[in-house]
Amino acid sequence: MEQHYDIIIIGSGPGGYVSAIRCSQLGLKTLCVERCGEDNKPVLGGTCLNVGCIPSKALLDSSHYFQLANSGLESHGIDLKNLSIDVGRMLERKEKIVSGLTKGVESLFKLNKVGSIFGEASIPEKGKVVVEEPSGDKVTLTAENIVIATGSSPILLPFIECEGNKIVTSTGALNFKEVPKRLGIIGAGAIGLELGSVWSRLGSEVVILEALEDFLPSADKAISSEAMKILSSQGLDIKLGAKVHKAEIAFNDVIVNYTDDTGEGEVKVNKLVVAVGRKPQTENILADELDIKVNDQGFIEVDEFCETSLKGIYAIGDVVRGPMLAHKASEEGIMVAENIAGESTEIDYERIPFVIYTHPEIAWAGLTEEQALEKNIDISVGSFPFKASGRALASNETEGFVKIITNAKDDSVVGVHVIGPSAADIVQQGVIAMQLESSAEDLGLIMFSHPSYSEAFHEAALATRGNAIHIGNRKR
Ligand code: FAD
Ligand code: AMP
Repeated sequence: MEQHYDIIIIGSGPGGYVSAIRCSQLGLKTLCVERCGEDNKPVLGGTCLNVGCIPSKALLDSSHYFQLANSGLESHGIDLKNLSIDVGRMLERKEKIVSGLTKGVESLFKLNKVGSIFGEASIPEKGKVVVEEPSGDKVTLTAENIVIATGSSPILLPFIECEGNKIVTSTGALNFKEVPKRLGIIGAGAIGLELGSVWSRLGSEVVILEALEDFLPSADKAISSEAMKILSSQGLDIKLGAKVHKAEIAFNDVIVNYTDDTGEGEVKVNKLVVAVGRKPQTENILADELDIKVNDQGFIEVDEFCETSLKGIYAIGDVVRGPMLAHKASEEGIMVAENIAGESTEIDYERIPFVIYTHPEIAWAGLTEEQALEKNIDISVGSFPFKASGRALASNETEGFVKIITNAKDDSVVGVHVIGPSAADIVQQGVIAMQLESSAEDLGLIMFSHPSYSEAFHEAALATRGNAIHIGNRKR
């Protein structure tokens, strides 16, 4: 194999593989290094494709259909009785989707002439990458530029040992072979809520223990309180202010101990998922002599263009500051590729969309009402409930609302918050509006197809100016 490259990218997740493809498109001789996956399988795609975004969404869909068939179709006149779920087949479907997509990355690499090698990479000095292949052989390669895209792994709690298939991380919870009767989850973040939803829809009694008193603290308060109401009504027992300090396996159960403001609490579950966040994977990659700063939490320090303190070495995605999201990793990968190739690309970190794929979905971008008020922005707020949307009524998807926040001085959109059907896609319209600096008036002047969920976005934009048609407007 070739020894010298314009660019070597370490890690093939959505940061690394997207960056590699873009580098190659721009004429750079590119190599992507990926260590083998968890069971030593040489596989591309990183956390997102193998044990993250994609398999979790596959299970969310399967479980949603099961729940709909089980109890959501009577009002349509469809009565289905004695349903059962074949968990094995559900997992097979998920695996098929995952392997289709990871093979897709292989094909994209071939198509774009991106080289790849499997093995554990490290950087002994500037411009050099050593790859220890699964055979134990070491290959030394050189490059003008190096991109570290080594992603993240689950945070473990020091007082809880993840054992066998009883106490697991998110990866284990994507692979339960049967529906646990009682499932405990530590952490009510996006991952905890999504996995809790999957197994609860299939029949588990799910209890989620969250140390913080606030539910979804980074969401707009109106959205987080609506989400808490809806998810609790679906049967998720979300205990806030419950800090877990011990969990032990006792025969077939896991006993979980926590403290809350009433004192000590205990829950007994059949399986426990530790979903308390993720940490950057930076161990054993950088030689001590390299002048690259890594902060106390293990994140590689970079500037706004993802360059480290050592020129020619970049870091992107979950290993650097900012939200741990696949699309953020990919955009950083593209930015780095284009800047290395001499273009001038930057990222707007203020408008990253966030989505939680519960049902209904929860999504937002830009400032929350609380953040806008803290910044002393004179705001105007427009909301539109899905229960007033013809499309939502026709499909029994009437929970939630769209909320748009504008700057009253210039009518610009500063935040978009959605809980409801297709929230992920609706919020994207808000991101485009903010990015193109359109005003709420501009949005109001755009024609939206009827009936569509997006009409709620249109109406919320009209409502910021007191002009909504299908609800009463607040007195201005
Ligand atoms: P990763 O995807 O983690 O990829 C890093 C790659 O680097 C890995 O393949 C790893 O094996 C490799 N690597 C590490 N060290 C080395 C080394 N020394 N040598 C060679 N290779 C190395 N995000 C969303 O945006 N939407 C979602 O819906 C979503 N759902 C998620 C659900 C779950 C259950 C989880 C766990 C995560 C989810 N995420 C989601 C987060 C998303 O997966 C990550 O933000 C994203 O994968 C980060 O991309 P990355 O390229 O930085 O790193
Ligand atoms: P996220 O970082 O969004 O994935 O969410 C992880 C959640 O886990 C955070 O909201 C944390 O507050 C929560 N968490 C962390 N440690 C504990 C603990 N010991 N007990 C309960 N919740 C925890």
